[in-house]
Amino acid sequence: MYHKYDVVVVGGGGAGLMAALQLARVPGIRTAVVSKLYPSRSHTGAAQGGIGAALGNHEEDHWEWHMFDTVKGGDYLTDQDAAEIMCHNAVETVYELEHLGLPFSRTPQGKIDQRRFGGHTRNFGEGPVRRSCFAADRTGHMILQTLYQQCIKHEVEFFSEFQVLDLILNDGVCCGVVALNVRDGELHTFHAKAVMLATGGYGRAWKITSNALASTGDGVAIAYRQGIPLEDMEMYQFHPTGEYKLGILISEACRGEGGMLLNDKGKRFMERYAPTLLDLAPRDMISRCIYQEIKEGRGINGQDYVHLDLRHLGREVIESKLPDQADFIRVYLGIDPVTELVPTQPTAHYAMGGIPTDLDGRVTVDERNTPLPGLYAAGECACVSVHGANRLGTNSLVDIVVFGRRAGKDMAEFVAHNELVPLPPKPDAYASAQVKELLGRTEGESVADIRTELQAEMMDKVSVIRSEETLCHAQAKVQELKERYSRAAIQDRQSWFNTELTEALELGYLLDISETVIAGALARKESRGGHYREDYPDRDDKRFLRHTLIYNRGEGIQVAYKPVKITRFEPMERKY
Ligand SMILES: Cc1cc2nc3c(=O)[nH]c(=O)nc-3n(C[C@H](O)[C@H](O)[C@H](O)COP(=O)(O)OP(=O)(O)OC[C@H]3O[C@@H](n4cnc5c(N)ncnc54)[C@H](O)[C@@H]3O)c2cc1C
Repeated sequence: MYHKYDVVVVGGGGAGLMAALQLARVPGIRTAVVSKLYPSRSHTGAAQGGIGAALGNHEEDHWEWHMFDTVKGGDYLTDQDAAEIMCHNAVETVYELEHLGLPFSRTPQGKIDQRRFGGHTRNFGEGPVRRSCFAADRTGHMILQTLYQQCIKHEVEFFSEFQVLDLILNDGVCCGVVALNVRDGELHTFHAKAVMLATGGYGRAWKITSNALASTGDGVAIAYRQGIPLEDMEMYQFHPTGEYKLGILISEACRGEGGMLLNDKGKRFMERYAPTLLDLAPRDMISRCIYQEIKEGRGINGQDYVHLDLRHLGREVIESKLPDQADFIRVYLGIDPVTELVPTQPTAHYAMGGIPTDLDGRVTVDERNTPLPGLYAAGECACVSVHGANRLGTNSLVDIVVFGRRAGKDMAEFVAHNELVPLPPKPDAYASAQVKELLGRTEGESVADIRTELQAEMMDKVSVIRSEETLCHAQAKVQELKERYSRAAIQDRQSWFNTELTEALELGYLLDISETVIAGALARKESRGGHYREDYPDRDDKRFLRHTLIYNRGEGIQVAYKPVKITRFEPMERKY
């Protein structure tokens, strides 16, 4: 089936909806949001702790302090022009969300309430500041509901449960996407002047993850297959507090409210590693410290986890400020955080890297940041790069709304000044061949087995601590799995809701992404932010203060680099 729009936004999470809303407000522009999930089921809805903005509702705060924390938190790999825009715009964007109807929690004076979060400081590192604006521990849920309601009000058209399989390019211009209608298995061609990828993250490449089942990096892999390079893929964040063995997130809001991490001796071990910020040091550091405690035999009962202690907060604070956290812990771990210690371990959480874009969300295709006309990206699938080598808590929700909005506004300009590029012949040839091949194979290994092996390998060899040896092992394993994947079969032949088919497509994306994460990690022979190499434990600004670009140019993987933009803050040692 054929559809024609001015703009097609792929993804109905916070980034996609924010962009769609900007477009919908401009008379005459027709926008479609194509999403494999019903929009309100997007992973943005799982975000709990809050959205960072220097409102200063409790104590003095400034967007420059927020920017400094973001740059330092990112271990100086952050592009500072992007961080400046994000932190400066965060303030007005939070007020915009408030005016759109977002029910923030309030201070006794009626202002938006704010809490502490890891790595956020006052006066360039002096001590913690309350910067995270929150709606209890359901901030992402409220953002998603608010934006979805506004999009409906402004008549954005939604194609939900449509899984995009390919981008359509003609003569170097992006002019549409091909999507599978999951409901009946039919392929649809969406023809448009501009396309935006807002498909979220890819935590599902790892065994222990906080991410939803749908976080399989589709947009990132689809762009990569079209020859677009991927930026800083080795920079993947492990959040220190996942529920033990399950990976379900225990929000940093718990430590923001005063929760502490304890080792087997009952000691608050962060005192040793980050004397100023303690349990609110950035995530990359705390995850490494947990591994260190475990390595030195101080995991609980000598095992691979530590405890989160919330007991001293008292029932009232836990039930009023962290109600969902307490519920998740009770339901999934069978533990009452009011009276018991909570077993936690690091969990794969957030992609700092992704599809490279400029400050207006335009996808760039080389070391010189040349934009690809008609193609945009924002949110977790994109790399602007505001998070550098490590994202601070609350900065993703800021990123999706600030850069989702900027991309939306730029697309409105773009469609006003450009004609619709015609479709190339057989625009759905690649997508159709992919589906036919998967449905056509009757005998072969199951997709689920290959996925389980991939996730175990990535967890074991490409997580918090890496080395040449572990990475080479993982590289060989992923090659083997890719080869096995090319012969795998699915049993389900139905055309409606064939989730075996959609999961097989998603596994293909996860394999491609894992390959780029490993290639980036092998090439970066230093330790920085979320990327820690046991064999190169120091940061090496001379050789590696630059962004990695991984290309797929048909003849295997190629690695290139581009400079980091440094405007206000010169790199210095990162101590907390
Ligand atoms: C448990 C958890 C808690 C978090 N808490 C916080 C927090 O407190 N503060 C913070 O700043 N950040 C937090 N984060 C991070 C943050 O929530 C995410 O990075 C952010 O919401 C991503 O938004 P997005 O719009 O880019 O993508 P998502 O919200 O993940 O949306 C992706 C969209 O793309 C669609 N899609 C994907 N593939 C396809 C395809 N092939 N075809 C069509 N559609 C597709 C999906 O349907 C979905 O609508 C948290 C993350 C997790 C996992």
